[in-house]
Amino acid sequence: MKSPTLIAGNWKMNGLQASISELDLLLGSAALAGVEMLLCPPATLLAGFAGRARGSHVKIGAQDCHWAQGGAHTGDISADMLADAGASHIIVGHSERRADHGESDSLVRCKAEAVARAGCIAILCVGETLAERDSGQTLDVISRQLEGSVPGDAAPQGLVIAYEPVWAIGTGRTPTTDQVAAAHAAIAGRMGAGFRILYGGSVKPSNAADLLAVPHVDGALVGGASLKAADFLAIAGAAA
Ligand code: PEP
Repeated sequence: MKSPTLIAGNWKMNGLQASISELDLLLGSAALAGVEMLLCPPATLLAGFAGRARGSHVKIGAQDCHWAQGGAHTGDISADMLADAGASHIIVGHSERRADHGESDSLVRCKAEAVARAGCIAILCVGETLAERDSGQTLDVISRQLEGSVPGDAAPQGLVIAYEPVWAIGTGRTPTTDQVAAAHAAIAGRMGAGFRILYGGSVKPSNAADLLAVPHVDGALVGGASLKAADFLAIAGAAA
C-alpha cells in the first residue's frame, strides 16, 4: 500500500503564541485522503500546538534536537523531551543547522538515532549548494551526506529523507522537474524500497502540483509558504 503524501511545514524561527490562529485554520480544514499534514513550529510553541492538535488530522513536529537523551547541555532540547511535548516527527540536518551551527553528517546521524530512540520519525535533510551543483557534484554530495548521516539500522517507518537543494531554500528558485527527478531517483536507489522522500526548497501553491508529480517525490518540506495556513492548505490540496 502506498504511504500517504507527507506535507510538512517548517516554521523555522517564526511564530509567537498568537500564531496558534494559523494552526486553528489547519485544524478547521478537512482531512485530505492520502495526505498527511505535519507542522513544525519553534520549540516554544510545540507543546501548546500538540495539545491543540491532539486527535486531529494535523501532526506536530520539531525542527531539531540534541543527540543526547539528557544532561549538561545548557539550552538544548532532547528528542525525548520533544516526544514528551507531543512531537511525532523531528527534522534533523536542515541546511540552516548545518550552516549556522556547523553540524556534520556524523552529528546528524547521532541526532537521527536519538529521534528513533525517542519513538519519533526523523526527517533527515540533504542537498547541495549552488557551487556544488554548478560543478556537477550534486549526486556525489547527496550520496556522501546519506552515507554519513543515515543510521545503519534506519527503517522506513522511522525515517523520511528530505531533498533540499540549499540554493532553492527561501530563494524562490526551484530546480527543474528533471533535476528533482534525478536527485530523488538517486536517493531512492540508495535508501531502498519504502523510504519516503520529500522535496523542499521554495515550494508554493503555484509549483506544488508539478513538484509533487515527479517520480519518487513523496511529499514536500515547506518553509516560508507554511507560515500562512491558506498557502499551506493549497499545497496540501495539490497533493490530494
Ligand atoms: C525549508 O525550510 O526547509 C524550506 C524548504 O524553506 P522554503 O520553503 O522557504 O524554501
